[in-house]
Amino acid sequence: MIASRRSFLAAAALAPLALAGKASAEPAVCYDPNALPLSQRSRRRALGYVDASPDPAKQCGRCSFFTAAAPGCGTCTMLSGGAVNGGSVCNSFARKSAT
Ligand code: SF4
Repeated sequence: MIASRRSFLAAAALAPLALAGKASAEPAVCYDPNALPLSQRSRRRALGYVDASPDPAKQCGRCSFFTAAAPGCGTCTMLSGGAVNGGSVCNSFARKSAT
């Protein structure tokens, strides 16, 4: 009985850490996909935009068309200044030159 109470208390103490870890793995929320105008949806579809890039080396945050805004968020010239997540990517990715 005491062991199970201790286990419960230990699990309860670690739960916020588990939730915090999960939250940090989620991509930044930079825009509401359901509120995007039709033109933005069409453009994103045409460019093959995905919210989470499968390649850490190819992300909007590393693209020459990206302009940083809020942490983890920015805008994209190819999307007419539309908001993008820093960890997203599309088929027009162009690596920023090292300056
Ligand atoms: S061109 Fe594509 S990869 Fe580059 S910032 Fe825009 S959406 Fe992201």
